[in-house]
Amino acid sequence: MSSPTRVLVLNSGSSSVKYQLLDMRDSSRLAVGLVERIGEQTSRLKHTPAGGESRERGGAIADHDAALKAVAEELAKDGLGLDSPELAAIGHRVVHGGKSFTEPTVVDDAVLAEIERLIPVAPLHNPANLTGIRTAQSLRPDLPQVAVFDTAFHTTMPESAARYAIDVETADAHRIRRYGFHGTSHAYVSRTTAELLGKDPSEVNVIVLHLGNGASASAVRGGHCVDTSMGLTPLEGLVMGTRSGDMDPAVIFHLMRVGGMSADEIDTLLNKKSGLIGLCGDNDMREIRRRVDEGDERAELAFDIYIHRLKKYIGAYYAVLGRVDAVAFTAGVGENAAPVREAALAGLEELGLAVDGERNAVRGDGARLISPEGARVAVAVVPTDEELEIATQTYALVNGSGNHT
Ligand code: ADP
Repeated sequence: MSSPTRVLVLNSGSSSVKYQLLDMRDSSRLAVGLVERIGEQTSRLKHTPAGGESRERGGAIADHDAALKAVAEELAKDGLGLDSPELAAIGHRVVHGGKSFTEPTVVDDAVLAEIERLIPVAPLHNPANLTGIRTAQSLRPDLPQVAVFDTAFHTTMPESAARYAIDVETADAHRIRRYGFHGTSHAYVSRTTAELLGKDPSEVNVIVLHLGNGASASAVRGGHCVDTSMGLTPLEGLVMGTRSGDMDPAVIFHLMRVGGMSADEIDTLLNKKSGLIGLCGDNDMREIRRRVDEGDERAELAFDIYIHRLKKYIGAYYAVLGRVDAVAFTAGVGENAAPVREAALAGLEELGLAVDGERNAVRGDGARLISPEGARVAVAVVPTDEELEIATQTYALVNGSGNHT
C-alpha cells in the first residue's frame, strides 16, 4: 500500500477545538470544523466535509476528550475516520515552545514535559494545547503526533532583538525574553511572498504585517526572522482588537499604586479591554471604518492610533533590515481592509513604498501585488493559511523530508 497522505490539524483552545483534515498530495481540505463552548451546556460542533453540507451538533460536550470523540464520529460519517490507514499524522498547534523548540517536533514524553514546563510563560494556551495532544494520543496511540510551535519561527532572532534591557540574571531566572507569536503565519506568508516575487526565500527581505484581532509584525531576512513585535506574551507591539500593544511599563505601577487595581485586573484591562475596543468600543475594523465614514471622532482617533503604531513598526523594521524587498499584509484586517493598507504606507514614497489605489481596491482570494508597476519595494496581500502550514510541516517531518521553514 502507498504511504498515508492525510494529516489532521488540531488547534485546541481552552474551550474550543478547531480542526482540518488535509490530503497532502494536493493540500486539499477533506473536512473542516470547530467545537465551541466545551464544558458548557451549550456546546456546539460544526463540521463541514469538502463539497458537502455543514452539519451541526448541540448539547453539552463535557471536555476535550468528548470533543475529539465527537469530531472522530463526524469524520467517520464521511468515511474519513481517525482509524483510517490513510491518516499519516496529527499536527497540533502549540502556542509556546520557549527557546527549546526551534522546529516542529514529534511528541514523546520528554516533549510533553517540556511543553508543560513552559506553562508559566503561556498559562492561557499551553495547558489546552497539551490536553489536545494527550486526547489525540489516547485515540490513536500508534500515530505520530507533531507539535508545531507559534514561537519556533522566531527562535532565529539575534539576542539583540530577543533580550529585554533588564537585569540579565532576573530575566534568565524567569525566562523573560521576546519569544514572538503567530510564527506559523509569519513563516508561511514570508515564504509565499518570496514565491510571488519569483524568488527563493533566502534572497528576499520581507516585513510581514499579520493584522487579525491579534496583530504582530516581523522582519524576515533571507527566510529567517530577525525581529518581531510580540514579546514574552502576545500583549506587546501593535495596537490590536482588544490589546494595548506597546506602552510605558510604568503605566502598570501607576494603575496599581494610584488606581488601586490588582495585577489580574490590569491583565484583563490590557489584554481584553484595550486596543481598538478600549479606544472606541469596537474591535472589528469593518465597523470602525463604517463609523469613520460617518464622521465618528472616536472611531477616527482609534484608527489613527492603530495606523500610527503600524507605521512606526514598518519604519523600525525597514531600518533593522536595511534593504526591504517586500511588505506583506495578512490576516483578517491585512487581507481585507484596503484603507488600513493605504494609510499604513501613506507618505513613505521616499522609502520606495507605495500602494496602487486600483490594485489595493480589488478584492481577491490569492496572494497579489498592490504596489505600482515597477515599484522598488513590492507591497503584497498574502492570505495566511496556518492550518496548511502546520499540515505541511507535520507531513514533511513524518515523511522524513525535513522541515523547510
Ligand atoms: P484572529 O485569528 O486574530 O481572531 P482574524 O485574522 O480572523 O483574527 O481577523 C479578524 C479581524 O479581521 C476582525 O476582527 C476584523 O477586524 C477584521 N476583518 C475581517 N473581515 C474584514 C473586512 N472585510 N474588512 C475589514 N476588516 C475585516
